[in-house]
Amino acid sequence: MNGQNKNMVILGAGESGVGAAVLAVQKGWNVFVSDFSVIKGVFQNELNKLNVEWEQEKHSMERILSADLIIKSPGIPEKTPVMKAIREKGIKVISEIEFGGYYSTGKTICITGSNGKTTTSMLTHHILKKAGLDVGLAGNVGYSFAKQVAEGDHEWYVIELSSFQLDDMHDFHANISVLTNITPDHLDRYDYDMQNYVNSKFRIVQNQTNEDWFIYNADDTLISSEMKKRNPPVNLAPFSLKEEQNPGAYAIDKQLIININQQFAMSIHELALKGKHNTQNALAAGIAARLVEIRKDIVRESLEDFTNVEHRLEFVAKVNGIEFINDSKATNINSAWFALESMENPTVWIVGGVDKGNDYAELTQLVRDKVKAIVCLGEDNHKIIEAFSGVVETIVEAKSAMEAVAFGYRLAKKDETVLLSPACASFDLFENYEDRGNQFKQAVRML
Ligand code: ADP
Repeated sequence: MNGQNKNMVILGAGESGVGAAVLAVQKGWNVFVSDFSVIKGVFQNELNKLNVEWEQEKHSMERILSADLIIKSPGIPEKTPVMKAIREKGIKVISEIEFGGYYSTGKTICITGSNGKTTTSMLTHHILKKAGLDVGLAGNVGYSFAKQVAEGDHEWYVIELSSFQLDDMHDFHANISVLTNITPDHLDRYDYDMQNYVNSKFRIVQNQTNEDWFIYNADDTLISSEMKKRNPPVNLAPFSLKEEQNPGAYAIDKQLIININQQFAMSIHELALKGKHNTQNALAAGIAARLVEIRKDIVRESLEDFTNVEHRLEFVAKVNGIEFINDSKATNINSAWFALESMENPTVWIVGGVDKGNDYAELTQLVRDKVKAIVCLGEDNHKIIEAFSGVVETIVEAKSAMEAVAFGYRLAKKDETVLLSPACASFDLFENYEDRGNQFKQAVRML
């Protein structure tokens, strides 16, 4: 796509917006960047270095509406006045990933789902890298795709895609796509209609053909019923913890089997990442790797030596025989469910924060089986207290990570676990989930 003498407006100057600006300048576009918030210093500097005009804390509508093409940050909702005006005028809006795709010749493994995107993306990238492929890691995981394309294209990309990123993708085509699961999340951005959210996730298979592959969770009933409706014209590689799949992969009776280009088998005890949800992530990443024809011994070695991503069931320390685990990234019920499910010792569960419409009843049985005490860590804990009074004897409230860890330490005994897996967003007491996880880890280290 030739950008000469054409106007591009980039809305949002974060990692993806600034990355898009780098590529757009290189391809000759006249670029203007507009952000309704304050732009971070590092990004301001980067834009200045590019000689790109930018504005912050406002949107100059006339200039924005004179664009030939608009790249929108996935964080900007359709409901905002700027987006409404753009849609009314009918200007083409794409995501930074779509834009990167115009100029990249690399092949792509694109990963989406309600939970497990980052872990599966990083694990897949780890295997391909270990096999010596020229592979970039991009998208929602925090690195701009467009920027990598500008700085020297890769042969392969592993791209994590949120539903918001998928919403502005039209022509982009994944060689291999992965859908880890679909559970309710972000419904506020989808008019509280689950089908809208499901449709958004299924955009991952749009434009895929019979030369491509779709890896998906066959145990997810929502995905399975949607597959029956849609029947996408792509090769299917499902994974399951319940039923054998061929082609595809499964983990049954502690054995992980991948049926792609001959059979691959290993014991799930050798997997670096623990918990059923991580076995699912390993199945998905393993299928992708075998589709790319990575050697079996490399796949095995990589699945064994991958180190967990920070804030996802991350082991922090053992203090006087009490294990502390940081799962601060668990911001919805489904992810907390998997965390609790994977606990092998009696657990003190630290939970709470900003509730996005949680139904705690889904956790009752697990909590009864695994949790010996609850530490609430939020401004408003009444829903949690109501849900679990009568299920767990001890429920206390903390207002800081330090206080929560102190409670955990007091309530747990040797060979027990203190788990931070909040099932909620963090914005009431913390800046973000990383801040919450870091404060938790720091408090543990001070014990
Ligand atoms: P995402 O990028 O989709 O938010 P992450 O890999 O960052 O996913 O994990 C987010 C949370 O979900 C963590 O608490 C993690 O332990 C949990 N999780 C990871 N993989 C899965 C999965 N396949 N199913 C359910 N929960 C998962």
